[in-house]
Order: sequence, then structure tokens, then C-alpha cells
Amino acid sequence: MEAGAKMSQLQILEKIKVGGESLAEEPAAGGSCFPDIGDLTDRLRFTVGDGNIRFDTQRVALVHLSTLTRLRCELLDGLCTSKARGILSRLGWESGTRDAAIAREVRSHCSLKDAFMTGPQLRNLQGAAAVRPVRIEADVTVGDFYGEFIWPESLEVESQLSVYGISDYPVCWIQTAYLSGYTSTFLGRPILYREVECRATGSKLCRAIGKPVEEWLWDDDLQEDLKALQLESFASNFGSGRRVPVLPAVQQRRLNHDLADLPTDVIGQSSSFTGAYHLVKKVAKTDATVLFLGETGVGKEVFARTLHKLSRRQNGPFVAINCAAIPENLVEAELFGVMRGSFTGADVSRPGRFERASGGTLFLDEVSSLTLLAQTKLLRAIQEREFERVGDTITRRSDVRIVAASNVELKDAVAAGTFRVDLQHRLDGFPIRLPPLRERRDDISLLVEHFMRRGLQRHGRTISGFTQRALDALYNYDFPGNIRELENLIERAVILCEDNARIDLVHLFSSGGPTLPASLKVNRTGTLEKEVTEECRCDEGLQATLCGFVDEQIPLEEIEARLLQIAVEKAGGNLAAAARSLGVTRAQLAYRLKRKEA
Ligand SMILES: [Zn+2]
Repeated sequence: MEAGAKMSQLQILEKIKVGGESLAEEPAAGGSCFPDIGDLTDRLRFTVGDGNIRFDTQRVALVHLSTLTRLRCELLDGLCTSKARGILSRLGWESGTRDAAIAREVRSHCSLKDAFMTGPQLRNLQGAAAVRPVRIEADVTVGDFYGEFIWPESLEVESQLSVYGISDYPVCWIQTAYLSGYTSTFLGRPILYREVECRATGSKLCRAIGKPVEEWLWDDDLQEDLKALQLESFASNFGSGRRVPVLPAVQQRRLNHDLADLPTDVIGQSSSFTGAYHLVKKVAKTDATVLFLGETGVGKEVFARTLHKLSRRQNGPFVAINCAAIPENLVEAELFGVMRGSFTGADVSRPGRFERASGGTLFLDEVSSLTLLAQTKLLRAIQEREFERVGDTITRRSDVRIVAASNVELKDAVAAGTFRVDLQHRLDGFPIRLPPLRERRDDISLLVEHFMRRGLQRHGRTISGFTQRALDALYNYDFPGNIRELENLIERAVILCEDNARIDLVHLFSSGGPTLPASLKVNRTGTLEKEVTEECRCDEGLQATLCGFVDEQIPLEEIEARLLQIAVEKAGGNLAAAARSLGVTRAQLAYRLKRKEA
């Protein structure tokens, strides 16, 4: 009897519908309700010697359970329970939203049920808990959802029991919040899970139930649950029974990083990116001169624009000038303006960039390429806030904030005698170094997603994502041209890729792409094995076949004759096609065939 009861617990009563029609209604008793996990384990890579474990393009890490237990204890003992719970819950929520994005990407071609099962399967793979669905009912069209999951024990249960013993309340906060974050992001509306049974309180297993927030009974406990996830702001909408949309994962992440006010091209979550961004935020509110340093293509102008938008001058103009792109004899005229007739070609009087930027920000890109004469005039304009138009005697004033950029260190230019030391001191007061893309690999997936979306919009294409080896190549490529190069690669790939297909290596790199470092992946038995690429597999097969010929002492002539015969047969007697398949000309093939007959 007990076995029967268990069986029914594991049944999935599925009613996932799209467009009002039921896709499937199969109580999957007994057998596994999960699709093959190979597509997920394939994305877990251990890069040897690089200090890097990745899931897809995201970096992950192995952490001892004892470390997590320690962290949990520090939080519980150092803060009040509700604060500790809040922190751990939001950790779980964040993890769930990321996995929902993976589910959408990896299983975009699967049934909705299989796509949804990605979350529980990933939880299993991550070693968090063996989550099993008991019942899932979802009607995507109207947004109905009921989900019930069980797990025999979790990381949190083990932590709790090993340190504090039996608990008065359910403890799987990360796990439950994970399910909330995962399902909410997957369905695009807030679904709240609550743990109704927990092994840490003495129950046989843990059980969580998930429903749309407004379907839960409104009481103090619910308020506490929402507070832990910082979802109280949705509360005002519950009464009206209105469907509340949840932000897609990317936006959610951006909000988490307080980047919501940024132009969309400033994207990142890596430590080197956020370090630079925090400096920008700090200095933006002042009127200090800022110097952006970094390789070509790291986005210095985008950062300068961001600085302007965050500053008090945001309503004033942002005027950019690339000092390297202007002919030497016109630099002054461009910066300070000209009076009519001051030199050949100056037919009308016009203001320079200094005047046009008045009340706003003047961005001097590649400032180190200015001539020494132009540097002298620039120094005066910055120091005295005064300048004259070329050919004019009237001294003008302009209230501008100077933001400069350079791909060489100014003090090196000073040492080389090409840059004035006093101007260097003026500009170098608040340097911000922007990291090259190869030092912020964690941002590559975000940037790829962003540039792909923009490319699809711009060119009206429909493309269903990237192949795994294309993503691997992007992740491992060194990007000498930095973000600009990545942007160009993606745009080119979006144009080249067939409609509804996935972007592959050939669309990105004309010559095969970067060589990937040796990496290990998890095989079916759960052990790590060296990854075998397609080419390598093919090469191994060829090697084995050739070894067989030698072992059996088959004469070279016979091998050639058989090879030619197979090629001609496969091409249906068409010699030109047969020659192509062998990589020779038709004449060469004909000659060899003739020689054989002779
Ligand atoms: Zn539990």
C-alpha cells in the first residue's frame, strides 16, 4: 500500500496548455518525468589550468558544503532570522532566474513541459537537492499555475541538522526561493512557493507548493514570505487581481546591479566592469575632469556618455571629438571655432566644440594624438576657461566639463616627449581604466544576448540562438578589438545565419575561430572526461581505419582503387562530383581511373 501511495505522489498530472489547447495530458506514473539530462551536462565544462568552471557561458564555482554551512551560521547568529532568511532567499531567487533563462535557451525547441523540467534537473546537477515534481498544472495562456515539488533533503537541511538540530520552522529558504524565481521568470508572472513540510522540522521530506501570488491567502506569513524575496512592491496590485508581469532575467539582473538608469550599451556584471562603473557613478556628480584609459574598442565613449547622463549636466549637450580623426591643421578650428576668412575654406564663421558643449560635457577621444601646439591651446582653455576662435581677437568663455580618453598612458606620452606634462596633470586627475573584454569574460554572455537582440531587430531576422561550440568559441576568444569586435562579429553572424537556425562557428569566424583550451566535461556516469570535438572524433576514426589497412597489409594501389570506386558510385557516376568529394580535379580523377584500367 505504501508503495502505491508513493507512486501516486510522484505522478505528474500535467495540463500544460498553449493557446487554450492541451498539449499533453499524461500521468507519467513510475517512469522518469525528466527528459534526458545530456543537453545540460554537456554545458558544464571544467577548463584545465584556467581556474575556470563554466556552465554555458557563466562562470560557476565548487564550494564546500561546510563553507555554506559556516556562512549560514554567520548570518543566523549575526543577524535576526528574518534578515538572514531574506539574504538566503534572494540568493535562491537570483539563481532561479538565471536558470530560467538557461531553460528558455537550451530547450527552446522542446515541449513546454521538458523546458520547464530544466530547473529541477539543474538543481539536481548543482547538488542542491533531488527535486521531484509531484504535480504541475500550468495554463500559459491565462497564467494559471499550480506546482508541487518534493525533495528528500537539501543542502540547507543538512546544514541545519548538523549545527542546530531539529528546527521549529522550514529551513529550505534558498531552495524554495529558487523555485519562485525560476517559475516566475519562466512564466513571466510572480509565482510564490512556500515550503509546507520540511525534513529539518522532522517531516519525512520537504514539500513546496507554488501558486500565483494573489491566490495565496493574504496574511502576516504571506507578507513575511514576500518580504524575504523583496516582492512586497507587487502587493499593491494583488487586490485588483491584475496579472503582474515579472521582468525578464536580464533586466532583473540589471536592476539588481542598480544599472537600470543606464544606456543599454553599458552592460556587465563582472567585478572589473562593476569596479569601473562604480567609479563613474562616484565622479559623475562632481565637475572633475575624467580620463578614460583602455584599449581600442572597450567602450570609452559609451562610458563617457554614461558619465554625462549621470551628471548634473545631463540636460546640457554631450559633444564628442576624436582628436586622431581630424587633420592636424584643422584641430584648432574644430576645437575653438573659426572666423570667416581666417583661412582658405573658412567661408562662414562657426563655433567650435568648446562653444557647442557649453553647459554640457566635451569628450576628447584619443587626446594623446593632439599636436603640442593644440595641447597648449587646450591647456589654456581648460585652465583659464578662455579661448579665441581661429582668426578672431575676441576672448570667449565656455562652461564645459572635460572628459578625455586615451589608449596610451599619458605619462608614457610625456616621457616620449609628445605630450605636455602640465596638460597630463590636468587630465590625469581622475583616471578610470576600462578592462579589455578578455578580462571580463563573465560579461560575454550578457553582451552576446544584447547584441544579438539588437541585430535581430535591426535586420528583421529570426534566429534561435547559438550552437554550443559557437558559444565556447566566443567565450574563449581573446577579442583584440574588444566589445566593438564582439558587436561586429554578432552582427555579421546575424546577417549570415539562415532564418530559424542557430548561429554557428562559420557565421562568426571566417577561419574556424579560436583554438579552445583543453576542457573536461561530465559524462553519463558522472565522471569527468576529456572533451572530444567533432574534428578530433573524425580524425580518430580515420586513424583507426588507416591502422587497420596497415595491420592487414592491404596494398596502397588497392586502397586507392577502392576509394575511387566508392567515390564514383556515391556520385552516381558523375565524375566531376566524385572528383570534388576527393578534393582532386576531374582530369586528375579521370587519369587515375584510366591508369587503373590499364
Ligand atoms: Zn526543507
